[in-house]
This record gives sequence, structure tokens and C-alpha cells, in this order.
Amino acid sequence: MKKRLNIIIAFIALVILIGAQFYVVSELYHLKNGEFNRSYGGEIFYGVETYQQQKELNPLAPVFEVMDKLASRLIFDYPGFELETDTIKSGIIRSFENLLIENDSITPFLEKYLEAKNLDSDISTFFIIKSLKLHDLSREFIIFDKTSGEDGLINNQDIGQGAIFIRSFNAKRDYFDIEIDFYVDFSNRIRIIVREMRFMLVLLTLTVVVVLLVYILTLRNMLRQKKLSELKSDFISNMTHELKTPLSTIAVASASLTLDNVLGNPEKSKNLSEIIKRQNKLLNQMIDQVLDISALEQSGFSIKKEPVEIKFLIEEIVEDFRVNQKEKSTGIEIEYNIPKDFYIELDKFQMTRVLNNLLSNAVKYNDKKPLIKVVVSLKGGSLLVVISDNGIGISKENQKEVFSKFYRCEHNLPKKIKGLGLGLYFVKKIVEAHGGTINLESTPGRGSSFIINLPLNSKEYENTAC
Ligand code: ADP
Repeated sequence: MKKRLNIIIAFIALVILIGAQFYVVSELYHLKNGEFNRSYGGEIFYGVETYQQQKELNPLAPVFEVMDKLASRLIFDYPGFELETDTIKSGIIRSFENLLIENDSITPFLEKYLEAKNLDSDISTFFIIKSLKLHDLSREFIIFDKTSGEDGLINNQDIGQGAIFIRSFNAKRDYFDIEIDFYVDFSNRIRIIVREMRFMLVLLTLTVVVVLLVYILTLRNMLRQKKLSELKSDFISNMTHELKTPLSTIAVASASLTLDNVLGNPEKSKNLSEIIKRQNKLLNQMIDQVLDISALEQSGFSIKKEPVEIKFLIEEIVEDFRVNQKEKSTGIEIEYNIPKDFYIELDKFQMTRVLNNLLSNAVKYNDKKPLIKVVVSLKGGSLLVVISDNGIGISKENQKEVFSKFYRCEHNLPKKIKGLGLGLYFVKKIVEAHGGTINLESTPGRGSSFIINLPLNSKEYENTAC
């Protein structure tokens, strides 16, 4: 419960952190945008001033001359009432705007000016008419006046959100008065700002990634620990159960030894002491398994390799196993595809444990008459030992876990199968200590195959050629 609360609190903290990072980034962007407007806007302003100084006149003076001619024509061509209709007004605005665009000499100048200063010159310029009046000596027609709020007739230039206001141009001529706002926009504005923020962006992203990673790792560790503690408690209850059975058998057998009818009967005494010996051996094996894990955890597996004739070893293991399994009528078929007298270097004792474990699992987890196949062959530079059975099989999900410490699968076998979930764990550790690998292929309901792959050293490899 406490752990879950911790996870939730950590998650909320993570969300807040990510939110805060977004807030910082957006604030920083606004700040940089303001800075961009000031510095680039300032540059453009000086650019226009320079233009004015070079030409020694208002940059729009030539356009105003053309506009004055147009204004005089309009005043004389249209009767006064027509100049007050919206459609005519719109047309006039459009004509004035077009004159501004057609006679624009500032934009090419500014592009060169920015290039010379090594600044981004990909700009769009906008001349926005704020007010326009046509007049002669006696009459005045307001065509458009945004300043007084009469903006029913707005110009249709889309100046975009980020365009920077540079300055206004005013002109009072014989037939018209005009006020124009001049704006500049940079196509690469976002790219330039992001480039300036890149160091900060990388830092902020790294912070989020690191925190996210720490969160995921902590969560994964917590889940692993939870799983391990569940497995450990399962193991303890299994272990207690497993220990109790031989202990109670020993208790009953040793109590029986003192009974009068047993004391006088050497046959019965011998039987009982055999039982005690067997149960004692079982107890010892179980305790050894547990001791093995702690030894393995402290100092890893140490193996003592020696040259072993593999055919002989497998036959010996299978024979011993058959003897122990007599009453269960287990069928074991062995197939060799290796040269005669083939020797391989391995730890005989540990490899015997591996094969015994796989053989006994093949019988334990089986609901039919057990049929086991052992195939020994050479493949590339490795010796392959495949042990297949016709047992209950292992689901895909469990296949990933069966080699984990204490792991036992759920199944519907009619009787409870004893075990500590350590067999395959040791099998894998032993094979790996030999530099090999073990893989599992299984179909639930049809059987399993454990494939052991042991690499051959150069001497062994040469032998395979004979
Ligand atoms: P144990 O046999 O003590 O439970 P193992 O580590 O040997 O421990 O096996 C782990 C689990 O893998 C077993 O509980 C069993 O469910 C499953 N298993 C192992 N071998 C086989 C097999 N040949 N067929 C089906 N299931 C198997």
C-alpha cells in the first residue's frame, strides 16, 4: 500500500516536473521572441534609415507621386457620392496597396542590408494602410481610417502573428493623405529562436529523460523485488512442506524401531533403517540445493572440467535414471550423431546434475506414459544435446521465466508435484558456466524440448573431423 502511494507520488512529481519544463520552455520562447523582435526589428529600422540617408528622401516618395496622380484621377472621375460607397472604397484601397507592392524598393534593399550584416535575410514585408483620405481644395473623402476605428474596410494582407512593426510612413499631398504602417516578418524566426535556445532545450530534455529513466528503473526494481519476495515466500512454504515429509517419516520409522515386535525382527529393523537412510539422503539433497544457491550467489559457479566421453556419460546417466524410474515405465530413446569415442571437456558431476534434472522434469511434468528423446549431435563448433518429452508443455509466458530462481508454473496435473523451483535455475547456471546456452521450445499439451549448446574448444573441434 505504502509502495503504491510512493509510486503515485513519484508519478505526480514527474508530471509536475514535465509541466514545469514545458512552462519554462514556453516562457523562454516568449522571452527570446521579444529579444528577437527588438534586435531584428532594430536592425530593420536602421536599414530603412540607411536607405533614407542613401537616397536622401522618404523611401516611399516615388510611390507617393504615383499615388497622387491616381488620387487626382479618382477625385475628378468619380462623382462625390460614389466615393462614399463601400465597394468603391474597397477598390481604391486595393489600388493603393497594389501601388505599394509594385513600387516596393525597400524590401530588396533590406535583404541585401541583412545579408551584408550576416543576418537571416529571408523576410516578408507588409505595408498596411492605416488611413487614406482623398481631397481637393474644397472636398474631403475618408476612404479608410483605422485610427478612428472605421475599419470596416480593412486591407486583406495577412501579416501573420509574429510580424514586427518597424515604423509608419505619412504623406500629405495635393489629392490625398495617407498613413502606412510598415511590418517585417522572418520566415525562419522559429528556427532562429530555437537555435538560440538549443543549449537550454538539450539541458531540459536531458533532465526529463534522466528523471523518467530513474522513475522507470525504480518502478522496475520495485516490481522485481515484489515478485522476488512472492517467489521467496512460495519457496519457504514449499521448502517447509518438503522438509516435513521426510522428517515425519524418519520420526515414525525411528519410533517403530524401538517397538518390541520390531526389535525381535531383523528383517523389519533393516527395512526401517533403509527408510531412515533414504529419507536422510533426501533431506541432505534438499539442504544441499539451498546451500548451493547461497554459495552461487556469493562466489558464482566454479566447475572442474575434465575430458569426458560423451556417449558413455549420457548412457550412464540414462541407465541410472531408468533404474530409479523402473516402476513408471518411462521410455527413453537416445540418438547420437557424433563420431565414435568423442571426448568433450566438462564438469562431469555438474553435467550429470543437468541431465538428471531435465530427465526427471520430463517425467514429473507429464500426464501420459513418459516418452523422452535424447539427441546428441554436432553443429558448427558446438555440441548440441536436445532432451525432448511428451509432457504437459510450458506456455509461452512461462517459458521466459522457468529458468528464474524459485519459479514454478501453475498446472492442472492431478497430483501435486514436489519441487523448489531451483532445478532449471541451476541447469542454466551450470550450462552457462561451461560457456554454453540452453533454450526451450515447447507447445502446451504436446511436450517440451530443452536444447543445450556447448561450445567445443579447438582440440575437441579437431576431433570431430575424424
Ligand atoms: P521444480 O521442478 O522444482 O518446480 P524447476 O526449476 O526444475 O523446478 O522447474 C521450474 C518449473 O518449470 C516447474 O515448476 C514446471 O512447472 C516447469 N517445467 C520444468 N520442466 C518441465 C517439463 N519438461 N515439462 C513441463 N514443465 C516443466
